[in-house]
Amino acid sequence: MTTMPAQVNLLDLDEEGLRAFFESIGEKPFRASQVMKWLYHHGVTEFSAMTDLGKSLRERLQLLATITLPKILKEQRSEDGTVKWLLGLPGGSAVETVFIPEAKRGTLCISSQVGCALNCSFCSTGAQGFSRNLDTSEIIGQVFLAAQSLGHERNGKRAITNVVMMGMGEPLLNFAALAPALKIMRADLGYGFASRRVTVSTAGMVPMIDRLRDTVDVALAVSLHAPIDDLRVELVPLNKKYPIKDLIAACQRYVAGRNKCQITFEYTLMGGINDDPAYARQLVKLLRTVPSKLNLIPFNPYPGARYSCSSPERIEAFKQIVMRGGLIATVRKTRGEDIDAACGQLVGKVIDRTRRSVAHRASL
Ligand code: SAH
Repeated sequence: MTTMPAQVNLLDLDEEGLRAFFESIGEKPFRASQVMKWLYHHGVTEFSAMTDLGKSLRERLQLLATITLPKILKEQRSEDGTVKWLLGLPGGSAVETVFIPEAKRGTLCISSQVGCALNCSFCSTGAQGFSRNLDTSEIIGQVFLAAQSLGHERNGKRAITNVVMMGMGEPLLNFAALAPALKIMRADLGYGFASRRVTVSTAGMVPMIDRLRDTVDVALAVSLHAPIDDLRVELVPLNKKYPIKDLIAACQRYVAGRNKCQITFEYTLMGGINDDPAYARQLVKLLRTVPSKLNLIPFNPYPGARYSCSSPERIEAFKQIVMRGGLIATVRKTRGEDIDAACGQLVGKVIDRTRRSVAHRASL
């Protein structure tokens, strides 16, 4: 008995993957360019509408391939224009995607995993435990669905100008699926975003920072949160494996030889934890060695959180010290609070495989 080969979801393939797919079915590789334009320039998901492919190829694709997107379960709009989607995935889990409109740009914040394995002590996604990696189609599908829902145009311009991998999960722990998705975001045949408009944010997966540098040209953000190892270990347990010295060295390698490349360091300010002026001075010494900017993020509370936000005075004082020390620093404005769309508040629906969420619920 012959079994049908599994259908390929074309959203799982970058340009190279699509070319290989078409060759494997005896078609010319340039079909990849045509299909990418339909998918990412026109948002078309029906083979029957891809009119330059020829009828017989369209019929073959119906049998051999699919174009399968996550399902929008819920869409919420904040008073400030922020939009949050809950996206359903096969198996019953769900992730969240957030769009943040600003005067001159529109940033889409997307997820890379269902839950997160890193267990950072101040992040609600971490407290929920980890379920699984997203596929490439589920990562790029978030951009696809958001673009579709927002309309490709806003005041005559594209609604989405920037993508940040700052939603749920640690993107560099899902590298195999992440890399093709980033390539589609960057490719002219894909979304065509410039390199500094696609940002991967990491809690500090040192070896994968080098992998990323060698794979695709995108901007890097590093969630630092502390200038010394003792404190950082408490906040980001991954620091036990990759201490600050190694992390900073990886950042230096990342920017080396790249024109105008700088790292964004994220620093979530928690009252009485990491907002002491002495830490600000240590941060100056540390970050002076890397072309970078510092993004100070007021801590966003969530049910069961162990920390609280620094006071506005402490935040301002911290900012003044780092700026006087010569760093470029901004305080991130909290957006979408009324719909729980702020940093660290994304929860989705995680079927926890680490049993961490059991402990989390017990502590609520
Ligand atoms: N795992 C990646 C991607 C998640 S990014 C990373 O760690 O960078 C999410 C950003 O929001 C990170 O900088 C994270 O440290 C920050 N964050 C998490 N929880 C937060 C909270 N409760 N308040 C403010 N920022 C938070």
